[in-house]
Amino acid sequence: MSKALYFIHDQLMGVVDVPSLVYESHAFFCASCGDIWARIIVDGRLSYCHQVPCEAHLPQFAAEWTDVPGSLIRYLPQVPVMDWARDIQVLPIGVLHWEFKVHNAALQRQQHEEMQDA
Ligand SMILES: [Zn+2]
Repeated sequence: MSKALYFIHDQLMGVVDVPSLVYESHAFFCASCGDIWARIIVDGRLSYCHQVPCEAHLPQFAAEWTDVPGSLIRYLPQVPVMDWARDIQVLPIGVLHWEFKVHNAALQRQQHEEMQDA
């Protein structure tokens, strides 16, 4: 087993054991502000970069318009199974709390926009 360290804005959110077959770390890049706002580091392995907006920016410049800003969880149509690092079953509790916060904020934004459109 290897250790995966989850960081959001340089704050350690939790550590989980992952199979030694995991061969990459992950970095989450916001195209709007240029920040690497989250990282999942596995034993110092090279990082795969995901373009996902941070929680402060809407996904206007992101590759995937359905991204929830600030979320590590994402459905990738080109990948039939969810990536291990973003599988909700392996996320540390600190990341789950973060996910609740950013998904709740996105839902409130969506409801606010729907009320303005009505
Ligand atoms: Zn940003």
